[in-house]
Amino acid sequence: MKTPIAAAALAFALLCGASPALATTKWPNGAKAAVVLTYDDALTSQLDHAVPLLNQAGFKGTFFLSSVKQPDLPRWRAAAAEGHELGNHTIFHPCSAASFPADPRYTSEAYTTASMLKEIEQQNVLLTAIDGKPRHGMATPCGQSVAGGIDYLEALRKADLVTYVRGVDVTPDDLRADASKLDLMHVPARGFPESATGRDLIAFAEQGRDGGGLAVFLFHGVAGDYLQVSGDAHRALVEWLAAHRKEVWVTTLQQALDWAKAHP
Ligand SMILES: [Zn+2]
Repeated sequence: MKTPIAAAALAFALLCGASPALATTKWPNGAKAAVVLTYDDALTSQLDHAVPLLNQAGFKGTFFLSSVKQPDLPRWRAAAAEGHELGNHTIFHPCSAASFPADPRYTSEAYTTASMLKEIEQQNVLLTAIDGKPRHGMATPCGQSVAGGIDYLEALRKADLVTYVRGVDVTPDDLRADASKLDLMHVPARGFPESATGRDLIAFAEQGRDGGGLAVFLFHGVAGDYLQVSGDAHRALVEWLAAHRKEVWVTTLQQALDWAKAHP
């Protein structure tokens, strides 16, 4: 039974718009939260350093492929066969011209909604050729969903080309949210600066665990390439997750979302 004080506190929290921390997602095997490790841009350092470490720990990661390098194809195919998820990150990774120097034809200003969707559709074909799966999730390049000045997410939702869209912004409330109610076109994730330590990464996993929701990490290079997480920090996170595997379910983004939707 609620005490008058507890009821008043709850009413106050609701009035203030604060989350009363009532996450209802029941994660498998009594896990308190789901943690997902995602890696963008099909970087070779991910194949060199992330995939082997995840395999060693028995974890599956999610890799959003863009501008795939031909020599890496056999290793992406092997990673998919090992149970890692491959996702769509477009073919040419169009971002706004202000994001970084790029050929003007491959900036999002040069795209239309139709050409963007066509590119996403074609990257799906490549992914299916690699992993044999009929459907894929997606991460927007640079976390931007604009083509020629127009947000294309609703057109993408309507076209039903991808199973979900991962963005880049996460709030503390997201980590406490009921993942079954997540808008699949707006799945939040958190990136980290290159200076991030293992402790910084673990702190986010702990927030996810304590919130009861879904904590999605966003990485680029791993001990190499660009926007990199150091090998030590990445390893410290994976070791922490391995030591807390009863508390946090480490899985692919597709599996976490499928589970949440099936267990509201
Ligand atoms: Zn990217």
